[in-house]
Amino acid sequence: MSNPLIPVNDILLTDADKALAKDAIDTAWISSAGAYISQFENDWAAACGVNQGVALSNGTTALEIAVETLGIGPGDEVIMTTHTIISCALAVTKLGAVPVVVDVDPTTWCMDVDQIAARITPRTRAIMVVHIFGHPVDMDPVLALARKHDLKVIEDAAEVHGAAYLTMRDTADAQWKRCGGMSDIATFSFFANKLITTGEGGMIVTDNAEYADRARSLINLCFRPDRRFRHTELGHQFRMTNMQAALGVSQVARIEEIVERKRWAAGLYHEGLSDMGEFLTFQGERDWAKNVYWVNGMVLSDDVPFDAAEFALRLREQGIDSRPFFWNIHEQPVYLEQGLFRGETYPVAERITRRGLYVPSGLAITEAQIERVCATVKQILRG
Ligand SMILES: *Cc1c(COP(=O)(O)O)cnc(C)c1O
Repeated sequence: MSNPLIPVNDILLTDADKALAKDAIDTAWISSAGAYISQFENDWAAACGVNQGVALSNGTTALEIAVETLGIGPGDEVIMTTHTIISCALAVTKLGAVPVVVDVDPTTWCMDVDQIAARITPRTRAIMVVHIFGHPVDMDPVLALARKHDLKVIEDAAEVHGAAYLTMRDTADAQWKRCGGMSDIATFSFFANKLITTGEGGMIVTDNAEYADRARSLINLCFRPDRRFRHTELGHQFRMTNMQAALGVSQVARIEEIVERKRWAAGLYHEGLSDMGEFLTFQGERDWAKNVYWVNGMVLSDDVPFDAAEFALRLREQGIDSRPFFWNIHEQPVYLEQGLFRGETYPVAERITRRGLYVPSGLAITEAQIERVCATVKQILRG
């Protein structure tokens, strides 16, 4: 008898979530007009500790609009981690700007902030931080560099709804801040595998009302208030629907519960595999960070005689789905072909890309499923 497949992301929507989405449909407010949109924007911005939210179609368009809102254009440089989704680089190269990448920290897998300073040039305009897999980037050094060199900071918070960072940690002013609330402009995704999901969806959050207005105009075709359909600028149509926003409103209200469930699942994985340290490493949690464990990633040690791709196949044979880590930006064939990143090498990221994968981490996962994943991981790695 073969085991049923444990999916990598089993979503969890409550009756309350469904009731709000149904309300949007029942009241026929199904497009991007409707009260749930502004409620979602206000509630989520407030949860991040800022006062402006702009809901839009997805996390990728959120990044594109954030970069465009900051006025970044041809020849400008944006410093980012190499270990992230293509969306981060795409948002920069689409505007004719250049992504400049750094390696990752071996413990958090987030950008190694000590490598940023050496990459700043007169053309650098912004630093894009990506809080990876649930763990915040070490923000204070990034913000200090940005102040010193007059750079903007963009936070890609797609994977860290509810995560927090302890700012000014060695001082009497130490204070926990929410990811998404520490930069000039931040972006979220609400794709089906994110901590809050609207199916597809995204949001820009910021404390800067001008940026919010600009983003709102850019996602809505740059309509002008004086004469609709007469344009002085070209924008995009990246709006979110009221039905999606209704799903979001309901989940924002239970974000703490969602985070607790993610941390519970991660705790079970850490406990279940606590004696496997010689074979694999989990993402760490620094004492200045609250990791929301978007996914449970693991990196195989060099002694394991196969890589993550082979590990994934063996898991799959035992009925366990997984996903590989991101393919590093500096190794993307599409950019190498354009002459970007020639001869650049980032060893930590190159290693985790090849030796890392994440196991089932959806919010609907059960304790029994996690136990089965742990037992299977042990059996495969112990041989
Ligand atoms: C999911 C994700 C995105 C893109 O979001 P979509 O809604 O899928 O477009 C961007 N950045 C990071 C880090 C992500 O994990």
